[in-house]
Amino acid sequence: MTTSPLPLGGEGGPQPALSRGGAGRVRGAPLLLADLAPPSSFTPRRSNLTRLDNKVAIVTGAASGIGAGIAERFQEAGAAVVLFDINSEGVLSMERKLRQTGQALAITGDVSREEDAKGAVEQAVRTFGGLDIVVNNAGIELAGTVVQMTSSDWDRQINVNLKSVFLFSKYAIPHLRGRRGAILNISSVHAFASYEGTAAYDASKAGILGLTRAMALDHGREGIRVNAICPGYIDTPMLVSPGSTQSDAAAAMQQIVSVHRLGRIGTPRDVADAALFLVSDSASFISGSVLVVDGAMTVAGH
Ligand code: NAD
Repeated sequence: MTTSPLPLGGEGGPQPALSRGGAGRVRGAPLLLADLAPPSSFTPRRSNLTRLDNKVAIVTGAASGIGAGIAERFQEAGAAVVLFDINSEGVLSMERKLRQTGQALAITGDVSREEDAKGAVEQAVRTFGGLDIVVNNAGIELAGTVVQMTSSDWDRQINVNLKSVFLFSKYAIPHLRGRRGAILNISSVHAFASYEGTAAYDASKAGILGLTRAMALDHGREGIRVNAICPGYIDTPMLVSPGSTQSDAAAAMQQIVSVHRLGRIGTPRDVADAALFLVSDSASFISGSVLVVDGAMTVAGH
């Protein structure tokens, strides 16, 4: 592996890529760290750091659960929010709700379809004049071991959960440049702790962490930060197994609560508060990171 160290060379040496001081610096004068400071578009003003005023955010999977919680929280913090979901009734209902207090736009589409992702980014930019934040949250969980699962279920799981992150990021990144843009990917504790019968889901969530790191590296010099959240059990419709009876569900919930050291499962708001921090200027030096939001569930050694 080769690395290219930042050139701090003296007189006559190459100037660092991010140097502001180059032209104005007296020949032969020592190079100060301040000369290496990034352009001002990289450095936030130090006021109202966790506000999102004048920012435009796309949240995928915003009709329900964690995505709806994040959209609501971002709007409270001042953002115009683009709500993207395959559930058109649900996303329109969220739009009606959020329009009572701020700016919101519902777009119906499938996160795994390239034309839908591209179209959503273009519509967000056309409607609100730019784009600052993308939260790749939409996801599904298909059960099965690799033997039980069909290859079309595998493709669907990977396309909805992982290819979608690639697609939305691909079309959003050109708009995020120069705006202190942020991408936040919703992974899961399944990315690093496996559970029986969720092979493809676990693979999709681990893949999201790899992609988060790669994009943070590839686009950091453009001032774009990329992070991920790994939620534990969060109280959303995804937690309810289709066809389970009320008493099954109550027993399952009791078991789930018992593995959380904080004595409860998470809420969409718990994830939304962490999301707001990570996309805001409060986290302006945090990129390529993974924040676990799981009430200490996965730290247990047994
Ligand atoms: P949810 O089912 O309440 O919400 C998921 C949303 O994504 C729904 O509105 C759904 O319509 C939408 N969606 C699904 N497929 C889509 C597609 N192809 N195109 C566009 N939208 C689509 O689930 P949730 O619990 O809020 O999950 C949100 C994210 O959080 C998922 O990525 C999930 O894997 C992750 N997560 C959830 C938990 C949990 O315990 N609930 C834990 C860890 C991670």
